[in-house]
Amino acid sequence: MSDAATLTSPAQEARPVLRERGQREVFCGLTGIVWLHRKIQDAFFLVVGSRTCAHLIQSAAGVMVFAEPRFATAIMEERDLAGLVDANEELDRVVDRLLSRRPDIKLLFLVGSCPSEVIKLDLSRAAERLSKKHSPSVRVLNYSGSGIETTFTQGEDACLVALVPEAPVAADDAPASLLIVGTLPDIVEDQFSRLFNQLGIGPVHFFPPRNSQSIPEIGPNTKFLLAQPFLGETARALAERGAQHLPALFPFGAEGTTHWLKAAADAFDIPELHFLAVVAPGRERAKRALDAQKQHLAGKSIFFFPDSQMEPSLARFLSRELDMKLIEVGTPYLNRQLLSAEMDYLPATVTLSEGQDVDRQLDRCRAAKPDLVVCGMGLANPLEMEGISTKWSIELVFSPVHGFDCAGDLAGLFARPLYRRSVLRV
Ligand code: SF4
Repeated sequence: MSDAATLTSPAQEARPVLRERGQREVFCGLTGIVWLHRKIQDAFFLVVGSRTCAHLIQSAAGVMVFAEPRFATAIMEERDLAGLVDANEELDRVVDRLLSRRPDIKLLFLVGSCPSEVIKLDLSRAAERLSKKHSPSVRVLNYSGSGIETTFTQGEDACLVALVPEAPVAADDAPASLLIVGTLPDIVEDQFSRLFNQLGIGPVHFFPPRNSQSIPEIGPNTKFLLAQPFLGETARALAERGAQHLPALFPFGAEGTTHWLKAAADAFDIPELHFLAVVAPGRERAKRALDAQKQHLAGKSIFFFPDSQMEPSLARFLSRELDMKLIEVGTPYLNRQLLSAEMDYLPATVTLSEGQDVDRQLDRCRAAKPDLVVCGMGLANPLEMEGISTKWSIELVFSPVHGFDCAGDLAGLFARPLYRRSVLRV
């Protein structure tokens, strides 16, 4: 991901960022399938990988065996890895079998993994070949969910990048439209739709859509808001289609949500007074819900290990709306362009770190003795054993946390481990 220096403020450029490259503790991009397969309801995700990949995705998604899941793994055996059989022929057979059994599938993603990348299996050519074969009833796309030099939220970014070319091209004189980019639970989408409707902003589309047949048109009159901070490559692909990014805080908490909605309101020339009248009830509800959680969180210190790329946005929310003390905010990649507003809102004293050298970071964490650590699952158990409360960062991607009506629940996710430990201590 590249940084656009022109879009960063002087304050941010002056802010030191600790950059580390060493051993990392992160999940791979296959994890994104867990929430993506629930969203795009006629899509299927076929991982081309090993038994490890199959195990990861099966246990993360926790699907019951008698359900018809919308993901699976085409397992590459040792002889495939040794190049003894033509993996392409086997893949074609697996896809043919799958599509003949499941006529409900309209969009098939071939998802690359570490093993498929190691043997250099060209999934883009496979997707092209299979798309031709199964067109027009099924489109076949591909992306990589491999864990080689990636972190788990990059899986969604890669998936959405693959989906952008599938969007019809909007004419240059098409009316302005708003695109919300990033997988949101349906209930959160509905809450945002109601707000945009009340504001008088429309048409509004969500990307990815709930159904692959309804991918919206994208063109120069498409203005887009990112719902997640980890969609840098998707933002770039949309900009290449001429769409305009609306920079804003991410919609976490009362402040973040107001700022995010305001970016859209300004882009659509919504009068200030009307904007304030529409957002006031939701913002007040959010503030009341946050006040209830503040008693558990205010004054408590927090340390973020790099995992989801949501860390700077969540840190801003916790520090400004819940008075938590930030010690270190680690993120796997710091996209200064997308996080420009977030970085301006972070206290100057906090250590921002990018990348990871896990042992050194653990040393810093132990020395700081934070009240709460946000980290991947691999680090959580050892830290709990040492008496440090933890929150799995992956939960923040799985749970409804966006917008006014989820602000209290988002704060609650951080308050719960502290409360649990205080009860255990009694
Ligand atoms: S893609 Fe790589 S990191 Fe992910 S489960 Fe498969 S082997 Fe492991």
